[in-house]
Amino acid sequence: MTCEKCGQPDVTTVQKDKFGQELCYPCLVGLLEERIVRHVESLAKIDGVLNDVEADNTDFAHPAWWRGYEQGVVVLCQMINKILDGRDIGRGGMAREPWHSTRQRLIQLRDTHRVG
Ligand SMILES: [Zn+2]
Repeated sequence: MTCEKCGQPDVTTVQKDKFGQELCYPCLVGLLEERIVRHVESLAKIDGVLNDVEADNTDFAHPAWWRGYEQGVVVLCQMINKILDGRDIGRGGMAREPWHSTRQRLIQLRDTHRVG
């Protein structure tokens, strides 16, 4: 068989793509790569900005990163105010580090200095 794209004759591995073209393996892989790149580019156009992890916490970060960051600040302020208002007694809720030790320090500070 002959690859319909590159014209290489006598190819042993010929696959039909979804349009019925008979392609050699390298041409099929190349075609799939082109489709993946076009798909990613079209998603980026829909989304407006590429979601590049390397750009997180920079001026080029994806808008969703900044929305998550701002929401994290809002939630953290709520958690701190709950402690300062005496509504958090140090049990239950999120107990992972670094929050757990920070929470305990704030509770100790509140109870020592009667903040709020
Ligand atoms: Zn080919």
